[in-house]
Amino acid sequence: EKVSLTNPYDPSDSVGIITQASPADVKAALTVARPWKASAKRRAAILNKAANLIEKNYGLFFALAAREAGKSLPDAISELREAVDFIRFYANEALSIKRPPLGIIACISPWNFPLAIFLGQISAGLAAGNGVIAKPAEQTPIIGAKAIELMHQAGVPCNALQFLPGAGPIIGAAISSDPAIDGICFTGSTATARHINRTMAQNLSPHAPLIAETGGLNAMIVDSTALHEQAVRDILASAFQSAGQRCSALRILYVQEDIAEELCTMLYGAMDELAYGDPWDITTDVGPVIDQTAARHFKDYIEAAHAENRVLKQLPGNGGNNHIPPTVLKVNSIANMGQEIFGPVLHLATFKADKIKQVIEDINATGFGLTFGVHSRIDDRIQLIVDTLKVGNIYVNRNQIGAVVGSQPFGGEGLSGTGPKAGGPGYLLRLTKPEASIKDTPLGNFAKFSAVQDAINSMPEPSQLPLQTNNLPGPTGESNQLSTFGKGKILCLGPGKKMADKQANEACSAGCSALSVCMDGDVNGAISPSDLTKLTNFDAIVFWGNEQDARAYRMALAAREGAILPLITSIGDIEKYQIERHVCIDTTASGGNAELLAASDN
Ligand code: ADP
Repeated sequence: EKVSLTNPYDPSDSVGIITQASPADVKAALTVARPWKASAKRRAAILNKAANLIEKNYGLFFALAAREAGKSLPDAISELREAVDFIRFYANEALSIKRPPLGIIACISPWNFPLAIFLGQISAGLAAGNGVIAKPAEQTPIIGAKAIELMHQAGVPCNALQFLPGAGPIIGAAISSDPAIDGICFTGSTATARHINRTMAQNLSPHAPLIAETGGLNAMIVDSTALHEQAVRDILASAFQSAGQRCSALRILYVQEDIAEELCTMLYGAMDELAYGDPWDITTDVGPVIDQTAARHFKDYIEAAHAENRVLKQLPGNGGNNHIPPTVLKVNSIANMGQEIFGPVLHLATFKADKIKQVIEDINATGFGLTFGVHSRIDDRIQLIVDTLKVGNIYVNRNQIGAVVGSQPFGGEGLSGTGPKAGGPGYLLRLTKPEASIKDTPLGNFAKFSAVQDAINSMPEPSQLPLQTNNLPGPTGESNQLSTFGKGKILCLGPGKKMADKQANEACSAGCSALSVCMDGDVNGAISPSDLTKLTNFDAIVFWGNEQDARAYRMALAAREGAILPLITSIGDIEKYQIERHVCIDTTASGGNAELLAASDN
């Protein structure tokens, strides 16, 4: 089937025609798909060559980013920059990878970074030596097709990299349900990630990993010590650059009550200066949203806020196609925001100086944990935030978008993603084959549900301290620190007490607290898969038994609501018990209202 793609800003501009793959094409592709057999050195050389080719063809990619994805020119430049950064980063990482590849990896990508995320996933899969099946988003297949052409031209074999454009529910679903797939890299909505996880659990090997990077309800706190000019500059970029269509974008701004009026006056004034229009025009700051469905959704959403008198600021519309004028809506708390609004709509709440801990608790309570920004000159306050927020990427005294590969590994936790972070040290490893420890031991008796739940509830709370913190390279004036933490509470399912104890040891050495569920006493025996769907208050399970039992557990985990929890079936894979958090600080941020420092509460 052929589909014609048009420019989201100008429907009369036909960008091109794409031939969609059919489910039969998916089968055919998977029949010929092979891991990339070349040596790591050769793979790295070819990937680097591809990066050079893509960079050389910048004109083509800038035009496609603008015409197919509605990206402004500065965004198109960053898009290309990030794409080649990813390729070069993973190519270099490949040189130190010791494990064999997983096999065939599916990469299912979103439209908002149709080159950078797309090529990031693909180059990671390839760098590790996998064969890759790439499915771009429906809205942006052409830029993806051009990039794949250049990857092949650079020397990536055709059976190691195949391109299958098509609709998510048809082609995406066919790919993610085919047992020939050994792992999936996905970026998109939380709902789709959950869906893919369930499909995988049913159809793929229970050992196949899902790396999912999903959405967030990203907050920023601006307290009374911030420098307004800096805060406003960074709010504007975080909320409205790329028309708010970044996973990392600021969704809810918390301003300390005492400065709210002054700060908002400056913010609304700065918004008036935003130029929105044709993304191909160099003066445009805010382009269109991706398509009519998205535009209609935001219009309805803003309309509903108008009816409730919650619109604080809205730029006048210019009548452009799919244009949503940047808008600020009043909310009382992040707790009132049910959903991620993936467009140029900023929510604003105020807080009293002594209620900052409540704000942090409310942010954590959403279950999302992608990005967070803070503008403050109080070191203790920043420390409190860094120590207590469950968020993957924290930005201090700067904007919260535009993570740089290798400096700011990107990705969230909880409902925002599974880790490992893209552009970080753990990503390639997840796409290699770990040592499995499959013992065909029967599960034995099942323990009583209530006994297991009680035992989980009385597990010690895992430590909140980082196990390790590393400084990553970055420009002068910026500090970039990546820390690892234990994932939380781990259920060790053996099979059998001996293995469960060994698993508990591994989990504890990785900073987790662990429950060996085959221990003597109350929890004597394994957990039944159906009980696993109902248990709460844990973060991962480990199981080293046979394929059939592993699948039952994998499916039980996938059937649950909430965050995607992993089934760990490998041995000695410490990083699977861990999460990563990154803190980026603009260390040059100066000025600010230092008069208030003495009066601050914490
Ligand atoms: P968005 O809301 O950003 O469009 P989606 O999660 O719908 O995000 O899309 C992200 C990617 O997932 C796209 O490539 C899309 O085609 C794909 N996708 C959507 N639904 C499914 C599905 N059921 N199975 C596999 N892939 C899917």
